[in-house]
Amino acid sequence: MAKYTVLITTRSFGKIVSEPMERLRRERLHILEWREETGLGIDDLKEKVRQADAWIIGNFKIDAQLLENAPRLRVIAKHGVGVDNIDIPAATQKGILVTIAPGANDQAVADLTMGLLLSLARKIPQADASVKSGQWERFLGLGLPGKIMGIIGLGHIGQNVARRAKGFDMEILAYDPYLPEEIARKLGITQTDFDTLLRKSDVISLHAPLTPETEGLIGERELSLMKEGVLVVNTSRGKIIQEKALYQGLTSGKVAGYATDVFEVEPPLGSPLLKLPNVVATPHIGSYTRDGLRMMGNLVVDSVLKVFRGEKPEFIINPEAYRYRSFPRKANPDRP
Ligand code: NAD
Repeated sequence: MAKYTVLITTRSFGKIVSEPMERLRRERLHILEWREETGLGIDDLKEKVRQADAWIIGNFKIDAQLLENAPRLRVIAKHGVGVDNIDIPAATQKGILVTIAPGANDQAVADLTMGLLLSLARKIPQADASVKSGQWERFLGLGLPGKIMGIIGLGHIGQNVARRAKGFDMEILAYDPYLPEEIARKLGITQTDFDTLLRKSDVISLHAPLTPETEGLIGERELSLMKEGVLVVNTSRGKIIQEKALYQGLTSGKVAGYATDVFEVEPPLGSPLLKLPNVVATPHIGSYTRDGLRMMGNLVVDSVLKVFRGEKPEFIINPEAYRYRSFPRKANPDRP
């Protein structure tokens, strides 16, 4: 496969766990890197995109303009599952497949979700800071058993969170308009309408993807329906919740605590949320575990290699792309 070029722009692919990168090297693929944190210019990226047959991407935004001069690109392989940073229609029109790496994140993100919830419920960050500063204060916590957790988006991650929360003897309510009733029933989870979930839940955990429908899903109206003293956990996407309305809710006491791995703008420099004592924040590390990275990296490599072999990758977001261009395309003849 020496004739093909793979562009890597994710921060983590091949960095912590070397196995996925070694698989690419074993295939003698030409590897170009433009890591999100290295500060290389956009012109440098454009030149690399021009040469690339495959693009392994993290959270960097791929818009239509970037795809304008990508004559060889046949697959954009997302190192993760959220594809809101990729202009899918633009890729489809150009016959570029977009693939995801599902399943790799589920456990890791669900674990972090429970960690964030426990941090809020038992005030672990405050207690830690207090003990380390020489104090011996006591922090009154909220018990989880018997409380209702409302899960918005009962997909891979939502289901793993539900399983864990059941282990904490919580009751689960779920809202997911696209999930077949049968799946929730098999899991023993009660599905409900959106407003009922907001009204009844003691804890609300967000696990829907960011789409035009879910952008700003939780705003002033939704917050007003929630229970007084509700806890909200967000490991999905920052833009699903309107941070300005949330700030009001957190300062008025309506929302007792917000724990989040994601923000409207990342990093959230200057965000007023960071100044609130009842906010716990992590820097989008939901899937950042060694096991998760290994599985995610290998799924990404599987997709890329399949496309190069002229096979259909398993997790394609836009199979319509096949209609716009015939595969396989010719390999790069002027590759160094
Ligand atoms: P998934 O596709 O398996 O599940 C998403 C679920 O949301 C689906 O069941 C879908 O039907 C449902 N849904 C869609 N629109 C909805 C709506 N309007 N209201 C309620 N539910 C709706 O995805 P997943 O693997 O569970 O991941 C969920 C999201 O988590 C991803 O889209 C991504 O944004 C986020 N994520 C974050 C991290 C992190 O590091 N924090 C890591 C991985 C994923």
